[in-house]
Amino acid sequence: MLTMSDFSPVKSAFKIYPASLHEENDSCVFIADIGDRDVLVAAGPAAACFTGTALTAGDVPYVCCELVHENADALRKMFPFTAPSKVLHEKRTVGVGDRLGLAAPGHIRVFNRYDAFPIFAQQSIRELNLTNRTFGDVMDAATWGVFREGFTRPWGADGDHLKTFDEIEYALKYGYTMITLDCSEHIHNDAAKISDEEVAARYTPNPELEALYMGKTFDVGGHKIVFSEADFKRTVLIYSEAVDYTVAVWNKYFEGKENGPELEMSIDETESVTEPYQHYFVASELLRRGVKITTLAPRFVGEFQKGIDYIGTVESFDADFAVHAAIADELGYKISVHSGSDKFSVFPSIGRLTGGHFHLKTAGTNWLVAMQIIAEHDPELYREVHKYALEEAFTEASKYYHVTTDLTKIPALDTLSDEELPGLFKLNDARQLIHITYGLILTQKKTDGTFAFRDRLFSAWRKYAEEYAVRLDEHIGRHLQEVYKGFQN
Ligand SMILES: [Zn+2]
Repeated sequence: MLTMSDFSPVKSAFKIYPASLHEENDSCVFIADIGDRDVLVAAGPAAACFTGTALTAGDVPYVCCELVHENADALRKMFPFTAPSKVLHEKRTVGVGDRLGLAAPGHIRVFNRYDAFPIFAQQSIRELNLTNRTFGDVMDAATWGVFREGFTRPWGADGDHLKTFDEIEYALKYGYTMITLDCSEHIHNDAAKISDEEVAARYTPNPELEALYMGKTFDVGGHKIVFSEADFKRTVLIYSEAVDYTVAVWNKYFEGKENGPELEMSIDETESVTEPYQHYFVASELLRRGVKITTLAPRFVGEFQKGIDYIGTVESFDADFAVHAAIADELGYKISVHSGSDKFSVFPSIGRLTGGHFHLKTAGTNWLVAMQIIAEHDPELYREVHKYALEEAFTEASKYYHVTTDLTKIPALDTLSDEELPGLFKLNDARQLIHITYGLILTQKKTDGTFAFRDRLFSAWRKYAEEYAVRLDEHIGRHLQEVYKGFQN
């Protein structure tokens, strides 16, 4: 029988991440830094579960394993806390996303201080395509991160903004614990702009729905939800197909599935603001038709653009958000706030008006923090990336992301000293330039087929990993601090 000390020759051969060291069941498993990368090391019976190179230290055999998918799968079986679980129904949840697969150490420091449950694996199909990653890659990065940092609380995995059955099956195959269904292709926004006469002409009579909503007023937590005949008919034209689609998705992938995923319905990526009565119609129709959503993401008044603060007045946001939050509360799910990065001016409202029951998604901020590290430590590389983003990538990237960036407001690089480069990350237009061009920056190749920036960026991030964790902890920590102000005291 081996005892713990028997693994000391293996342990002393490596620079171990201390929180990853697990000595149990006569085995020893940990993650180590071997310079250019991290590896998983296993000794004792556990070694047989992983694929790697068999070696010995002293007389003790062990395997040294790359952080690849099959080993991540084995780790999830061996240590259940490294696999995602269903957390969306908890009081507060925050999706953080991690486009680089490097953010877990910083994120974990935040969630060690706040009781919100994290969704560490969170990527949309758009982000997967733009970064050449798979749902498996995203999940594995989260698994390695939580094991390395010893994060044993439950965390979730979100197949974000999925539109088709194929996309849903892709995420479910990799064990994603929630699906964010993007209904934008089934929302007929054109009907938001036509006249009441045209609405009446397009509308097909539906006695069942008319009896339920038309001309009716609902009292929701002190707010009046009123369906005039014209508003009702317009709402049916815009949203009824999205409701039908969600019902179909629910029946196929969620209904009766004991261990199935949780469902978020998103109607946020549309051209027009979701009126509270429209939100009420969509959610109460889902409920009536047997769909149990855990969260719903409306499009709120004002603008939630990527990587910058809320655009609009806090007063108008509060007035709108309060009604959406009351509807969610009344109908039994949580409000989900998308594009939640850096919305500092409305975070306290989100905490307050939901009574601390919310789902908040941030995605790209960790990328911006990573790029700021480059601007600070490798100004030459930063200048190259910035120039590429400005001159080549922005036009292409702005096809995928809605932003109002004014490139002329970004100071010309050659007027800035190296010391002034990090200051660019205080300017909204410069933030958005870098924020939305991530995919092109990470995948751009030179004529010889090698990456233009990727390898140099990742090796710099590895070098400054601790600083990145500290800065991310500060930045994302400030998000939660502001939201929590709304419901603590
Ligand atoms: Zn969204």
